[in-house]
Amino acid sequence: MYENFGRACLADFCDDWVIYRNLEPLDRRVPGLKQAFYEMELRSAQIPRKQDRDYAKAAVWFINRIQSARKVATPVSEILFLGDTLFNDGRAFSNLVAESHWRGACFIGAERLDQPPASQLEAPAIQLANRWSALVEWLQRLRQQEFKLDDRTAVVVDIDKTALGAKGRNDKVIDLARLAGIYRTMHSVLGEDFNQTLFEEHYHELNRSRYHTLTADNQDYLAYICMVLNTQIVQLEELVGEFEHKSLENFEQVLRWVNSRLLSNPAAGLTLREVHEAISSSVRTGDPTPFKSFRRQEFVSTMEHMGNMPDNASVQELLDHEITLTEEVYQVALWCKARGCQLLCLSDKPDEASRPHARISPELSPLHRARTHRVGVNLQPALAAL
Ligand SMILES: [Mg+2]
Repeated sequence: MYENFGRACLADFCDDWVIYRNLEPLDRRVPGLKQAFYEMELRSAQIPRKQDRDYAKAAVWFINRIQSARKVATPVSEILFLGDTLFNDGRAFSNLVAESHWRGACFIGAERLDQPPASQLEAPAIQLANRWSALVEWLQRLRQQEFKLDDRTAVVVDIDKTALGAKGRNDKVIDLARLAGIYRTMHSVLGEDFNQTLFEEHYHELNRSRYHTLTADNQDYLAYICMVLNTQIVQLEELVGEFEHKSLENFEQVLRWVNSRLLSNPAAGLTLREVHEAISSSVRTGDPTPFKSFRRQEFVSTMEHMGNMPDNASVQELLDHEITLTEEVYQVALWCKARGCQLLCLSDKPDEASRPHARISPELSPLHRARTHRVGVNLQPALAAL
């Protein structure tokens, strides 16, 4: 049922209208959070998380500014949101509607081929579906409800596991690429001493929700903690003990704890100290992506999984080894674009994991311009009839 539709990139439908975690649009015609937080009516330039109300404030501001940048006189009054997680994307969507009072509809997809096709309304405007191809029925319903789907409509598309690496179909490759980035970073920091099996054990244990107060569910924090545990200057049992006795309650405390260990441990390597210093100072300035070297390696390994398979590879080989464009999302996005809708890719993916670095990866293109195969179900005939 899946087909390979050849190579394409995100920019085909969103151009440079892409905004990552730092809330700095790639298209410089619209300024970002650093410069415009005051106009956005935010208290500071501190970067909000996707599920925060302040994130929605910023997003509404961006959408209005993009509308003027693309010289459309009609104000935005409708919003469509395509995502893969109810907690992040669903919440971001509800906040956006509450903040803007626009008419809205949200589609949350996750392929579950072991189940019969099913869609359910999570909230009046949030549709959950276990087939990405259900996007077309969703659009049909919106048409019946007299959504205009024209230049007054903003279409917000999540990137990871939505437009790229469809959840339930191709998302494992995104996780693989991230892990490859982590391991490369660990090899460069810890060298020969890096113990991958031990790292996996620690990562698996600490990735659980009971440790979220320590890790804030932040992959940078988690990678850092597992790196330090790998050097054995602190042991997992010690860390868990301190956590259970409430002497370690958040990540800042972990950083201070490790710092004292580093001071009393002359054997700890120079690279480890440098990484520790860099992360500590980023955390102090409120940067939600403090482990820069890891994220830059994640970008390199992500790009190694974009369009890396030959054109004659089978669909299953593509889905197993390449981060592919979700054909259903791609077709719907192009359909909306042709009707005059505003298309925006909005993602909490770190900027460092999505764009080349001048020193580390100057030869690579940015993620949204990387060409990779489009894989999925053809919705074209049904879209043409809409
Ligand atoms: Mg996602």
